[in-house]
Amino acid sequence: MAKVNKRAERYETHLRSAGVRMTKQRLAILRVLAETHSHPDANEIFHLAFAVDPSISLSTVYRTMRILEERGAIQRHAFDDGRARFEHADGEHHDHLIDVETGKVIEFRSEKIERLQAEIAAELGYDIVRHKLELYGRAKPDKAAPPRTKRRAS
Ligand SMILES: [Zn+2]
Repeated sequence: MAKVNKRAERYETHLRSAGVRMTKQRLAILRVLAETHSHPDANEIFHLAFAVDPSISLSTVYRTMRILEERGAIQRHAFDDGRARFEHADGEHHDHLIDVETGKVIEFRSEKIERLQAEIAAELGYDIVRHKLELYGRAKPDKAAPPRTKRRAS
């Protein structure tokens, strides 16, 4: 819980320094956002926040997310389903595999891929500043084979 509180406080600091007036609606949104673990879209955040405080509007959620994104506090993903999804920017770097049937998002990290990307960029005369890798897949009929890369809980 300590991490969630810290996160909510950090988001609040970002909004305040962006000149946003803190209302109880915004505090509830930040609280809800700080507690999320997966990759929610604005609508999902709105529904969670609305359950806490029905005076919260979807546009306040959008605006809050936009400011946090502009300040680098959250990351926005645009996976193939077209919905903008958000995730905390304070986690470790990872990549995503998206199940094309269910839309489930699986996080993974592969040192091999990280290394390979750096090598390719270097060959092209670049240092990588950031990257995004999205794999789109369908689950194999038998999922008996253990994943070879370290999986993270999403
Ligand atoms: Zn992620």
